Amino acid sequence: MVRLVLFCTLTLALSAQQRGHKAHEHGHAKLSIAFETTTGTPSGVVELESPADSIIGFEYAAKTPADKAKQEKALALLKARFAEMVVLPAGCKMIPSKVEVHVEGQHSEVHAEFNAKCAGPIAGKSISFGFSKVFPKIDEVEVQLIAGSQQAELEVKKDKGTLQIAK
Ligand SMILES: [Zn+2]
Repeated sequence: MVRLVLFCTLTLALSAQQRGHKAHEHGHAKLSIAFETTTGTPSGVVELESPADSIIGFEYAAKTPADKAKQEKALALLKARFAEMVVLPAGCKMIPSKVEVHVEGQHSEVHAEFNAKCAGPIAGKSISFGFSKVFPKIDEVEVQLIAGSQQAELEVKKDKGTLQIAK
C-alpha cells in the first residue's frame, strides 16, 4: 500500500516535470490575453511567460553586478516596450503589475503581467504582435485570447498573424 502511494506520487511528480520541461523551449513564449468584456471600456490582463534566455540572455541566477544590471535592463525594456510586442486596439493601455524571474533548476522563466484598460469598445478590432522587434530571440509565441465569450488561439511565428476580436 505504502509502495503504491509512493509510486503514484512519483508518477505525478514526473509527469509534472515532463510537462514543465516540454513547455520550456528557448525562443518559444506563451501569451495570454483576457478581457471580461469587449464593449464599453474593457479592462483585462495580459500575461507573458518566456524562457529567460530569450529576454535576458542567460538563465542562471544573476549574482554579479554586471549580470544583475543586464537582467534589470532587460526587464525594464520589457515593461517599457510591451505595447510594441502586443499591439492592442487603439485606445488600450497596459500597465505592468508584475515582472519576475523564476529560476527552475538549470532554466529560468520571465513572468510578466500587465493590466490593460481600453478607452472604448474592442469588439471587431484586432491584436497584432512585434515580439522580435524588441527581443529578437523570441521567434514563436503561443497566444491565447479570452474576450467576453470568445476563446481563440494563435501560433505567432516571427510576429506574423493577427487575432481578430469577435464583434
Ligand atoms: Zn532554458
